[in-house]
Amino acid sequence: DKYVYAFAEGNKDLKDLLGGKGANLAEMTNLGLPVPPGFTITTEACRAYLRDGKTPASLDAEISAHLAALEQAMAKKLGDPEDPLLVSVRSGAKFSMPGMMETVLNVGLTDASVPGLARQSGNIRFAWDSYRRLIQMFGKTVCDVPGEAFEQALDAAKRVKGAHADVDLDADDLQALVDAYKQIFKQHTGRDFPQEPREQMELAIRAVFESWNAERAILYRRQERIPGDLGTAVNVVAMVFGNLGDDSGTGVAFTRDPATGEQGVYGDYLPNAQGEDVVAGIRNTIPLQDLEGLDPTSFTELMRIMSVLEGHYKDLCDIEFTIERGKLWMLQTRVGKRTAAAAFIIAGQLVDEGVIDPDEALRRVTGAQLMQLMFPTFAKTDTQPLAKGIAASPGAAVGKAVFDSARAAERAATGDKVILVRRETNPDDLPGMIAAAGILTSRGGKTSHAAVVARGMGRTCVCGAEALDVTDDSFKVGTTTVREGDVISIDGTTGKVYLGEIPVEPSPVVQYFEGDAAHSVPARSGVSREDGGLNASGDTAQSPLVRAVDRALRHADEMRRLAVWTNADNAADAGRARRFGAQGIGLCRTEHMFLGDRRELVEALILASTSDEQEQALAALLPLQRADFAEILQAMNGLPVTVRLIDPPLHEFLPSLEELAVKDAQGRLGSREKELLAAVRRTHEENPMLGLRGVRLGLVIPGLFAMQVRAIAEAARQVKQAGGDPRPEVMVPLVGAVQELEAVRTQALDVIRDVDPGVPVPIGTMIEVPRAALTAGEIAGSAEFFSFGTNDLTQMGWGFSRDDVESAFFGRYLELGIFGVSPFETLDADGIGRLVRIAVEEGRAARPDLQIGVCGEHGGDPDSVHFFDSAGLDYVSCSPFRVPVARLEAGRAAL
Ligand code: ADP
Ligand code: MG
Ligand code: MG
Repeated sequence: DKYVYAFAEGNKDLKDLLGGKGANLAEMTNLGLPVPPGFTITTEACRAYLRDGKTPASLDAEISAHLAALEQAMAKKLGDPEDPLLVSVRSGAKFSMPGMMETVLNVGLTDASVPGLARQSGNIRFAWDSYRRLIQMFGKTVCDVPGEAFEQALDAAKRVKGAHADVDLDADDLQALVDAYKQIFKQHTGRDFPQEPREQMELAIRAVFESWNAERAILYRRQERIPGDLGTAVNVVAMVFGNLGDDSGTGVAFTRDPATGEQGVYGDYLPNAQGEDVVAGIRNTIPLQDLEGLDPTSFTELMRIMSVLEGHYKDLCDIEFTIERGKLWMLQTRVGKRTAAAAFIIAGQLVDEGVIDPDEALRRVTGAQLMQLMFPTFAKTDTQPLAKGIAASPGAAVGKAVFDSARAAERAATGDKVILVRRETNPDDLPGMIAAAGILTSRGGKTSHAAVVARGMGRTCVCGAEALDVTDDSFKVGTTTVREGDVISIDGTTGKVYLGEIPVEPSPVVQYFEGDAAHSVPARSGVSREDGGLNASGDTAQSPLVRAVDRALRHADEMRRLAVWTNADNAADAGRARRFGAQGIGLCRTEHMFLGDRRELVEALILASTSDEQEQALAALLPLQRADFAEILQAMNGLPVTVRLIDPPLHEFLPSLEELAVKDAQGRLGSREKELLAAVRRTHEENPMLGLRGVRLGLVIPGLFAMQVRAIAEAARQVKQAGGDPRPEVMVPLVGAVQELEAVRTQALDVIRDVDPGVPVPIGTMIEVPRAALTAGEIAGSAEFFSFGTNDLTQMGWGFSRDDVESAFFGRYLELGIFGVSPFETLDADGIGRLVRIAVEEGRAARPDLQIGVCGEHGGDPDSVHFFDSAGLDYVSCSPFRVPVARLEAGRAAL
């Protein structure tokens, strides 16, 4: 196996092997851009190291060969006392994990070579600065020396000197600091700082391998659903120095604004600084635009390279660069993370610019991003903001201020909404950032750690709110002090920070959907919408975002094979879903129709001791149900409405045992309540989810389903007679055997014939008991349609009680990698998905025109939508708010 690649040997498509950073360094090298020479050790070597606890046997020799080539290219030797070659040893995995793993700069520098470096550069201060940075980074990342130990020593040195920033320390101060650092190193590791350049490099390489499994990296991967077994590559890169003086510096840049997609100059620059200083927010950066004045040549060159990169990657890129004495070097690029809004806008811009086609644009936006754009935003307010920072990651977050990552996680676990407030964040703050509704910092720009990570996670973030004086347990602005627990609101779209809670309103995207604008031409179902075309009103006031979202959805609608239906139980939800583009109702639950005032009627049904009483109770429910259905059929005029007959166990409609028992003990039960108590006891079940519910209920109380079917048929007749186009379908829940379905169906057909609604009323079944999936061929003989109830199918297929397991042990399961995401969230394609495929295949074999859909929560989950598309379903049905998400993902699935 080949474990090491020179930059010239790689390219951007080798991310699996070389990691994103390595692949893109190779790509830039081959584009002829100024990248310092170097090589990449593959992720395969990392996997081998993590598996065996040692590096592969041939790795050493390969590294030596590539190091020799690097030395030759640089005409210097690693750590040579006369003129040392220094390198950076950098992590870089397939998926970018900003700051989560380790990187060590200035590797190769030793006591012996500091003078050489000083002589060659003509800059003694620089040489000591580089050395103290090495000891600090190496100590921290390779030898686990606590970072604070070094920071305290640095602060002490600054204090003694009366210096504000590290740049105010001179060569002597830094030399003294190096001594202090070396002592700290020895104290914590029990050994002297390694003086063998090659040993430094090898230890750093191992540390980078190991940083794959750093706690925060694991947490980040779980959050971002990045597989845990990929490993990281290691890039060894010849150092270039931004800390050589005022004609040097380091920066980060985006080819477009990652928050809005606007074209322009976006980035931060820090003169006389090295590497991480920018991201860490050690000193305040200057806007990239200001580089033009400082170093016009480098600035122009940077602009040129950025446009080369955008043209080459055909997308927004972010880059890291360093200027060494007026010479520009590229240290990293990648297709940049961006906000959800920018993703849609940029995709649209690039289509307009002729850079990509609409299919590619659709590939570049996701349902998860669209979901984010549907979250509420702050309403207009007269409240004066406390401060204004940089709008780093959009959203409207309201929560209790918390000043510590662990505290934030703690409070969030108890159900509090929290805003994590920090001077700046670092990778150790990740748990708090995940737990928080929003992140607020007083330092750092659009490219600071907080901003980059928050954008990646879709978390609201305002950074660099410099008016805030943030301490460990409060912040002050003017005369206002905010302490832990005080409610604040932060607006990631404007950067404004408010004291107290600012009310929210629907997002512009939702407002647009809610307006009269029309939606899709439905795929496949052949149903056409009557509500006209987009912008029939000539609305030109639409924001670029709304236009971009609409455009992506239209293309998705054109491409998709899957229809998108909705789960709705009332006319209001049905109407909204329809405006969101739903092409039918795949699940109209009927149980809520038995709640509220109607509970008494259901109780009467349960208490009925004669069939007469039972009939009376049902007769009282009939007109109410009929009115419910008529309303929904009207709201969905012309579109299918799948009504699921009652599913939950009836005792769910009774008062709780505890409540009645307590009253009983106090002798406060009336005679009806006594009857109820007896009924509760009689109907008690140990495992209600596996008990008397669904079709079983229909067979035990035959009049119940008949009443519901009658209500549906009569409602349809009524709507039809009023000139409407009702399309009801009757769905039987929890069927496991064709005989169950057949019994219900015979009875339902009788009722429908009797009512004569004047429209067809197809009868189908849910497939949610594993046995139904496995006998789908037989069941299809009695079913005109199937609808997968993937919640129950998952529950019964895995034997996981959906109400209990998530809190009980899913955390542990995720940790152990038994699954990467809860199977209730994303369909388990291998197991439960297999049941789905079997049912589709055998069902269609028995009845070729069988209509098949899914109505579980999974119907609106992006990954699951892709699975259902591949399994050949006709539609997915999901909650109204997920309808646009499902449309988009169904379109993407079809590409
Ligand atoms: P991360 O993935 O956390 O960004 P990097 O490996 O990119 O870590 O490096 C951290 C910082 O060090 C970046 O700012 C990068 O530009 C800088 N850096 C890395 N290698 C070199 C080098 N060879 N010369 C100068 N600066 C470097
Ligand atoms: Mg980097
Ligand atoms: Mg179910």
